[in-house]
Amino acid sequence: MSQVMENKQFNSRQVSRLNTAKPMHHQVFQISLSGCPNSCSQPQIKDFGVQGQVIPEVGEGCTQCGKCVESCKEGAINYQSGNIVIDYGVCLKCGQCINICPEGVMQAKERGFNVLAGGKLGRHPRLASRLSPMAGEDHVLEYLKSCVELLLKEGKPGKRLGSIMDRVKFNSKTQF
Ligand code: SF4
Ligand code: SF4
Repeated sequence: MSQVMENKQFNSRQVSRLNTAKPMHHQVFQISLSGCPNSCSQPQIKDFGVQGQVIPEVGEGCTQCGKCVESCKEGAINYQSGNIVIDYGVCLKCGQCINICPEGVMQAKERGFNVLAGGKLGRHPRLASRLSPMAGEDHVLEYLKSCVELLLKEGKPGKRLGSIMDRVKFNSKTQF
């Protein structure tokens, strides 16, 4: 991510856009990285947020010990006809069931990132929009490039990315 910011010459362009080298708090472009859906770093209220995610699946050799069922805070894992079944509509992709499985049977089917952009607090709070529910690393960087370019090209000093996204109707397919 730092390479993206460097390649975009973010610091110098931001200084020229804001006409100051000492931006106020709300003028700082905030990026948040979170390892799981617990979201301790609050990506929902940052300009750009990334949450690590993993989709679990049950492999061969399950002993039906029930530890994954007990460990899932979302109630997404159940017994059905003697099998362990995951409700993917409820699963938050936190990976807890993978960590807890004593047999190593619960495994990662897919790993990726939930990509969020445009979150902010202030006078007009806005929760970040989801740009992708499960992006690979390269796509995360492409989204970051688009968001940075949008801010630097379209944003008036004092305006946060979320306001600009609403104004230009930015979505996951918008390219800059
Ligand atoms: S924790 Fe592992 S072995 Fe135990 S029921 Fe779940 S998948 Fe099966
Ligand atoms: S990844 Fe998390 S939310 Fe999904 S089934 Fe496993 S423990 Fe539950």
